Amino acid sequence: MNIGVPKETAEHERRVALTPEVGGRLVKAGLTVLVERGAGEAASFGDPAYRAAGVTVAATAAEVFGQSDCVLKVQPPSIAEVGLCSEGAALVAVFQPSAARDAVSRLAARNVTAFSLALLPRLTRAQPLDVLSSQATVAGYKAVLLAATSTGRFFPMLVTAAGTLPPARVLVLGAGVAGLQAIATARRLGAVVSAFDVRPAVKEQVESLGARFLAMEISEQAETAGGYAKELSEETHRRELAFIAQSVKDADIVITTAAIPGKRAPTLITAAAVDGMKPGSVIVDLAVETGGNCELAQPGRDVIRNGVAILGPLNLASTLPCHASQMYARNISSFLLHIVKDGALRLDFEDAIVRDTCVTYAGEVRKL
Ligand code: NAD
Repeated sequence: MNIGVPKETAEHERRVALTPEVGGRLVKAGLTVLVERGAGEAASFGDPAYRAAGVTVAATAAEVFGQSDCVLKVQPPSIAEVGLCSEGAALVAVFQPSAARDAVSRLAARNVTAFSLALLPRLTRAQPLDVLSSQATVAGYKAVLLAATSTGRFFPMLVTAAGTLPPARVLVLGAGVAGLQAIATARRLGAVVSAFDVRPAVKEQVESLGARFLAMEISEQAETAGGYAKELSEETHRRELAFIAQSVKDADIVITTAAIPGKRAPTLITAAAVDGMKPGSVIVDLAVETGGNCELAQPGRDVIRNGVAILGPLNLASTLPCHASQMYARNISSFLLHIVKDGALRLDFEDAIVRDTCVTYAGEVRKL
């Protein structure tokens, strides 16, 4: 079975779906792996490293798509890439089908079996395949570094001959995978960290990282059976906004990561709350791609309001391409080995991992 890895074509995307190490493992597992020339370059994986691992380097994307039974990508396929897919081949990437309707219907029309790892169920056995978690880990880490380079303050407390400087006060809103990594990173840099989340189960995890959990009384059930946050009632959300407006006044840095699966991100910091913050404070809004947690955040832009910087970075995982690709490659190869048996695709639709992630199959769109 031929596995193909084209060079990512989306703007600013520096990751690659397979690293030489993971590609080599697939070769050892009996698969043939074909990588487009230069596919790993932006992530510091040169063609010689792929060749040394037993991977074949092809000159063009057309060759990779044309010769592959299964194509592995990071970003959703472009319309041009769908056109290069062989009829009946498979493709694995990360995308919301509803945001890629045209590509999805064309994939079905070409009889491509397409999977999106954005739809992977959060089951314990699916953890090694979980690209959302691995890439959120990168984003949480990088958000803190962005904040550290944007603020005019040190993160750690410094006692120097020029005086004593207090540590930065970091507030993390939303303590899921990205938020917990942001807390850990800010702590490592020496900041005093506090965090807030609507899921009460998070308190212990926050405290185990050496941060303070800000408690607000929430009388309704804010967590689904699956462990995700639910949308709050209007009244509770109103109280949450007031609680956060009070909390951000003391913060030098605020990292926001709050999300509700399948919905617009909840607003947590209003423009009025930003006006209550100290000049020189920095907000990094990791939810900006799904609507933003800060009312003033703009996708891909830095906004300054009364001396407060509001950063809305896009695709942070791509800015740490070496390790982000390494984690991604391990996730996607685990998924591949889950659906491939004896050198061919074997799909068991009774299995939630296959059922939930399969977007197109046998000429039909299964998820939109
Ligand atoms: P997410 O990206 O959906 O949301 C990020 C955080 O925002 C969550 O902690 C959520 O509670 C919080 N949030 C939502 N609305 C909020 C609001 N109004 N105010 C404050 N915070 C709000 O979450 P995630 O990082 O994907 O993780 C969600 C859960 O899933 C966690 O319990 C995580 O441990 C679990 N998980 C399980 C697996 C697995 O078993 N395979 C994998 C990944 C995550």
